Amino acid sequence: MFINRRAAESYRRLMDAKDQVGEVSCQSYPDAWFPEREHASDSEVRMAKELCGKCPIRQQCLEFALTNEEAHGLWGGMHARDRLLLLRKTQQVA
Ligand code: SF4
Repeated sequence: MFINRRAAESYRRLMDAKDQVGEVSCQSYPDAWFPEREHASDSEVRMAKELCGKCPIRQQCLEFALTNEEAHGLWGGMHARDRLLLLRKTQQVA
C-alpha cells in the first residue's frame, strides 16, 4: 500500500488531520475523485476540484499523494498527470 516509510508517515498525518476535521467532500461522492475508473462527467470532476480547493486537509492530502506516488485519482485537487508534472519540476529544482 505504501511505497516507503515516508509515505506511511505521510498517510498517518493525513488520517490524523482527517480525524480532526471529520467528513471531507470526497467521502460523500467518491466517483468524481477517480474519473479514470468511474464515469464522472467533466462538470463533476470540476466540482471535485473546487471542493478540494476548500478542503481543510488539502495540504496533507496532496503531500501524501506525492509521497506515495499515487498514480490514480484526484488528491489535494490535483490529478495524477498534474502531480507527476509537479514532482518533475520539484526534482529539477532540487
Ligand atoms: S483535498 Fe483530499 S481529502 Fe480533501 S476533498 Fe480533496 S481528495 Fe478529499
